Amino acid sequence: MNSPTSTHEAIQTVDCCIAGGGPAGVVLGLLLARQGVDVLLLEAHQNFDREFRGDTVHPSTVNLIEQLGLLDKLLALPHVAMLDYPFHYPDGSISPPPTKRDRARLSSSYMIPQHLLLEMLVREAQRYPTFRLATGARVDDLLRDARGVCGIRYTAADGPHEVRASLVVGADGRFSKVRQLAGVPLRGRGAPMDVLWFRLPKAASDPERAAGVYLGTDGVVVIMDRPDGWQVGYAFAKGAYQRLRDAGPEALRRSVVDHAGWLADRIELLREWRQVSLLSVDAGRVERWYAPGLLLIGDAAHVMSPVGGVGINYAVQDAVVAANIIGPGLLQGTLRTADLAAVQCRRELPTRLMQALQQRMTPFSAAGQPRQRPPLLIRLAMGSPLAALPRRLIAFGGWRPERVRDLQSKRRGRLRRFAVQLAVSTAKCVWSALGQVDTRAFAVFGLPVYTHELLRPRHLRAGEASYSERDVKSPSDKQAAVDGG
Ligand SMILES: Cc1cc2nc3c(=O)[nH]c(=O)nc-3n(C[C@H](O)[C@H](O)[C@H](O)COP(=O)(O)OP(=O)(O)OC[C@H]3O[C@@H](n4cnc5c(N)ncnc54)[C@H](O)[C@@H]3O)c2cc1C
Repeated sequence: MNSPTSTHEAIQTVDCCIAGGGPAGVVLGLLLARQGVDVLLLEAHQNFDREFRGDTVHPSTVNLIEQLGLLDKLLALPHVAMLDYPFHYPDGSISPPPTKRDRARLSSSYMIPQHLLLEMLVREAQRYPTFRLATGARVDDLLRDARGVCGIRYTAADGPHEVRASLVVGADGRFSKVRQLAGVPLRGRGAPMDVLWFRLPKAASDPERAAGVYLGTDGVVVIMDRPDGWQVGYAFAKGAYQRLRDAGPEALRRSVVDHAGWLADRIELLREWRQVSLLSVDAGRVERWYAPGLLLIGDAAHVMSPVGGVGINYAVQDAVVAANIIGPGLLQGTLRTADLAAVQCRRELPTRLMQALQQRMTPFSAAGQPRQRPPLLIRLAMGSPLAALPRRLIAFGGWRPERVRDLQSKRRGRLRRFAVQLAVSTAKCVWSALGQVDTRAFAVFGLPVYTHELLRPRHLRAGEASYSERDVKSPSDKQAAVDGG
């Protein structure tokens, strides 16, 4: 299949310029173009085919693709259904197989080569005349005016370019250049491990429940089922890379076979370090995902560790929320910084919870020791109703998958927002009228308000609303800015 084509036009002004053609940027580009927003997607690489960056597509992403009427196209791509992902313990035992109910729940998680998924989505976006893609286009700088970020400077094969935009979206991943240029610090949460990845072929003799996590005494082996073979990860305590490298491929081969003996007949295919790529695992997030004229989404706003295989899906959910909230404002030239804040407001809590869960689920202790069994909390939760929340966070990237707001549901959405606002304001009035002394009144009225406030990012809570209510430039302002330079 051909890679999507890159634009050769010199574009001077757009509604939205997205830096980064990963899952977050591509999905946002598609959803905005579908609404008629003028979008330019800049991707530093020439195509979407590069190093392994994860292939897990969970129900939230499948659900989005189904809403867009693209499920047939998705399932026409090479894929493997992920119905089971067991723990293999050092004593040879394996965690129980999923029940029928679990299998039904898991039925729409797939392993799909990420570049094929991205290419399919970009081709879909290119059906809309307002979508443009520039590949080999590396973002170098942000343009600013008195009101904030107003465009991007990037370099492509034909030289430097400048694009003015009502909104710049940084979807350029964990090492986000846009984040750096905006001076937004990433607060690292620390990750106790790094991972070496390589591929091995499948064989007819492979065990039935071969994919999964293999716990052991020196490291942890993770095996993922890809349509074209096994993706093998060797996770080890952070800081041990040089020791492993010095020990050479033979030591790595031995460690892998110690965990998953059934790979012994083909481990010799891993001959040299060139076949192995290192993922330095990281986790962290920024405190504020937005500034006037600028929004960060996906790994640019919150770096996800590979635990649970959720990074792609969280990036996609961010994009859906962003498109729902900012699309209409971009189209009508009425986008406000408060809309950008609303994106963070909706996505921050699930992201924080998932990052906390990833920390708990990590197969290494904080001291860098590989675990012999899953952490107690996870074991307690497994198979109990308590597991519902982690399951939802992994499968849906939140409590439920975000829906693309279509034209019919816009009115309903406005009504629902109005009803919620009315209820919250009424509760606030009643609470303050009661003088905040009656504990029963607090339980009935105060607690929901208090919880509502707590769920908002700290800088948006009452009394701390320091963001400017700057209107992002309207199309006429934009033209004036271009004309005026
Ligand atoms: C080795 C590895 C394994 C992983 N395994 C999994 C997994 O199994 N499941 C899972 O869900 N997640 C996994 N993840 C995490 C997942 O890849 C990320 O969370 C997810 O890709 C984030 O999507 P994104 O669109 O925000 O960023 P990215 O996918 O990182 O995309 C960012 C894009 O921006 C481009 N870019 C960067 N800088 C610039 C610039 N200056 N100008 C223009 N473009 C730029 C990059 O080329 C890239 O295409 C893994 C990550 C890695 C590295």
